[in-house]
Amino acid sequence: MNRFFTHPLSLKKGKGSLRSCEQFDMMKKKCNFCGHEEYLTNKVQYIYNRSDRFMIVNNVPCEQCTNCGERYYAVDVLKAIENDFDSIYSSKKEIKKEILIPVEEYAEIV
Ligand SMILES: [Zn+2]
Repeated sequence: MNRFFTHPLSLKKGKGSLRSCEQFDMMKKKCNFCGHEEYLTNKVQYIYNRSDRFMIVNNVPCEQCTNCGERYYAVDVLKAIENDFDSIYSSKKEIKKEILIPVEEYAEIV
């Protein structure tokens, strides 16, 4: 397992590129959100989006804060997802499964 992890939000601070994201060693890292120091290795559903295009990836490995549940991903894992998104939306890769997702405006449902 790659020892360098990141939080997807750290991408927005830079140029939106994984190269410019904040990376850290999970063994020495306090949770960005609650300061807790214990994590659990988990597999989760990751929803990636860029420019209003979405992709769902199931069973993505992550380290999850045992206190607040915040998720941290290995940089290589995020790179793989980003690359896959590019091949799907450039139509090079065949899509195995698609789902229809309802889009709602909050003001219209209250
Ligand atoms: Zn936390």
